[in-house]
Amino acid sequence: MSRAGAARSVTVRVPAKVNVQLAVGAARPDGFHDLANVFLAVSLYDEVTVTPADELTVTCAGPDADQVPLDRTNLVARAAETLAARSGLPAPAVHIHIAKNIPVAGGMAGGSADGAGALVACDALWGLDTPAAELLDMCAELGSDVPFSLVGGAALGTGRGEILTPVEAGAFHWVFAVADGGLSTPAVFREFDRLAQGREIPAPEASPALLAALASGDPEALAATLVNDLQPAALSLRPGLAETLAAGTDAGALAALVSGSGPTTAFLVRDAASAAKVAAALEASGLCRATRTATSPAPGATLL
Ligand code: ATP
Repeated sequence: MSRAGAARSVTVRVPAKVNVQLAVGAARPDGFHDLANVFLAVSLYDEVTVTPADELTVTCAGPDADQVPLDRTNLVARAAETLAARSGLPAPAVHIHIAKNIPVAGGMAGGSADGAGALVACDALWGLDTPAAELLDMCAELGSDVPFSLVGGAALGTGRGEILTPVEAGAFHWVFAVADGGLSTPAVFREFDRLAQGREIPAPEASPALLAALASGDPEALAATLVNDLQPAALSLRPGLAETLAAGTDAGALAALVSGSGPTTAFLVRDAASAAKVAAALEASGLCRATRTATSPAPGATLL
C-alpha cells in the first residue's frame, strides 16, 4: 500500500465466509427475513485495488471473472459512490480492479467482500480516515453480509445478518466444492418461503451448543452442530448438490453443508491432510467444478 495523499494505488484483501449456523425466521413485512447467522471468515480471498482515474471504472480478473458485472451494479462501484457521497466528495474518479478468487454467486459473500474491500481501499486512497462505526453503517447500507466482510473473524449476525456480535472461534479446516453456475440468494429465500408455507417458523436463535463448539476448536463437536436452514431450499432448486455433500462425507469430511444460499458446498475436516484427501476425492468425483481448501477464522478487510 502506498500512503494516503501520495498514493498511486491501494490494495485491500478481503475474505470469503461460511455460515456455520444459518437460522432463518419467517418473512418480515419488508420481505427480508430475521436471521441468526453465525459467520466465519475463511482464508479464501479477493483483492480489491483502487487507483486514481478520470472516471469510475471496474475490471475483474480470475476464474469466474466473466460472471462479474463491471457496471454501477457492482458492489465495489456502489461502495465507492456511497463513501464519496457520505464524505461530501464529488463522484468518485477511481479505477477499481478485483482479483477474484472467491466463487461468484456461490453463497460465500464474494460480492459483499469486494464491497467492503472497496470501501476500505477508497477510504485510504482519499485519506478520509472514516471512523470504523461509520464504515460499518455504510457496509450495512450496501448489503446484509457486507459488515461481516469488513470485520472478519467470527461473529453472530442478527437482524438481516448485519447486526454483529463477535464470537470466539478456534481454528478449523475446510474444503469448498465450487458448483457449476450460481444460485440467486433472493431465489433461495423465495424457495424457503414456499417450502415453509403452512408451517410455524420459530424465531431464529443462535445455538448455544454450536457457539461452545466453535469456541472449543474441536472439529468433531462443531461437526455435530452445523446447521443451515436454507439448505432444503438450495437442495430443492439444485437436487444434485445432495450427491456432492455425500461424496465429501464418504471421503472423510466430518460434516458437509451448503454454504449460505449455495450452491457452493462446505466440508468441515479434521486437519490439513484430511482437507487434501477430501478435496482430491471431490475433484475426482466430477460432481463439482473446482475445490478450494481454507482455514478459519480469517481476518476481515486488510490493507496490503
Ligand atoms: P451471498 O453469500 O452474500 O449471498 P454470493 O456469494 O452468493 O452472496 P456473490 O458472489 O456476492 O454471491 O454474487 C451475487 C451476484 O452479485 C452476482 O451474480 C453478481 O451479479 C452480483 N455482483 C455484484 N458485485 C459483485 C462482485 N464484486 N463480485 C461478484 N458478484 C457481484
